[in-house]
Amino acid sequence: ALHQDTKPSWIKVRLPNDPVFWSTKSMVSDLNLVTVCEEAQCPNRWECWSHGTATFMIAGENCTRACGFCAVKTAKPLPLEEDEPMRVAEATKRMKLKHVVITAVARDDLKDGGAEHFKRTIETVREVNPGIVVEVLVPDFNDKDWALEMVMDAKPEIFNHNLETIERLTPLVRSRAKYWRSLTVLRKAKMMAGGRVATKSGIMLGLGETEEEVFKAMDDLRDHHVTVLTLGQYLRPSEKHLPVVEYIHPDQFARYKEVALEKGFRHVASGPLVRSSYHADDFRPELDLE
Ligand code: SF4
Ligand code: SF4
Repeated sequence: ALHQDTKPSWIKVRLPNDPVFWSTKSMVSDLNLVTVCEEAQCPNRWECWSHGTATFMIAGENCTRACGFCAVKTAKPLPLEEDEPMRVAEATKRMKLKHVVITAVARDDLKDGGAEHFKRTIETVREVNPGIVVEVLVPDFNDKDWALEMVMDAKPEIFNHNLETIERLTPLVRSRAKYWRSLTVLRKAKMMAGGRVATKSGIMLGLGETEEEVFKAMDDLRDHHVTVLTLGQYLRPSEKHLPVVEYIHPDQFARYKEVALEKGFRHVASGPLVRSSYHADDFRPELDLE
């Protein structure tokens, strides 16, 4: 395990220096919203918020799962808030977003895993902000196809579900989620939308995976029709989380990107600070429809 102070030079976090950052911050707290940017201690939050983009986390800040890499707290979740879809919609309007990422904690306590809340949020965002590209980053809904169907009914343009890591490390890294189940969720979402959705997934690197294993995960994603890929460095949120095994060099991220494009991914974001929603609006979903 490496220590904070041994972080290589390419893992740098910029400090806020832009007034838009602060106005976004106060709006988020005025509307009583939760962002992944804050909850996951994302290293890009200064940058993204300064550009007026953010990833909203609906359905509360308490997760029913406890993944070894994740900074979101594990606790008994609170009841869903009826007006949350409207508050998220209001935020997308005030921020003049063209592309919004909506995600949620895993709500294994709810029968539908929070699917209906996702659906309402997507629909409300669209009503308030027509023409916006909606990207959802969803949990696996515990094999309940009807719940997944509910989300797909709201027709998100981009369906994102992270694989998080390669097959061998999945039991160590993720709590309850399974490698093949996640791949199946991605394939089913595409099918349910009749192909009219771009599917996207992400893998964190630096957890001890080999290059071969990363290539295999890419092949598995392609076999399940995924066309958008994000690759980023795993950073340890605290001492209680999994240690960083390795800091991947930016050249290696560039190599992975090249290979991923050769394997048929249409859009690949690969770099030490890339997160699932990093520069999400660089990708235009109309380019995808395979
Ligand atoms: Fe937020 Fe995503 Fe940007 Fe991180 S990469 S700050 S989670 S929008
Ligand atoms: Fe974090 Fe998602 Fe795992 Fe919950 S299910 S601990 S939010 S990664």
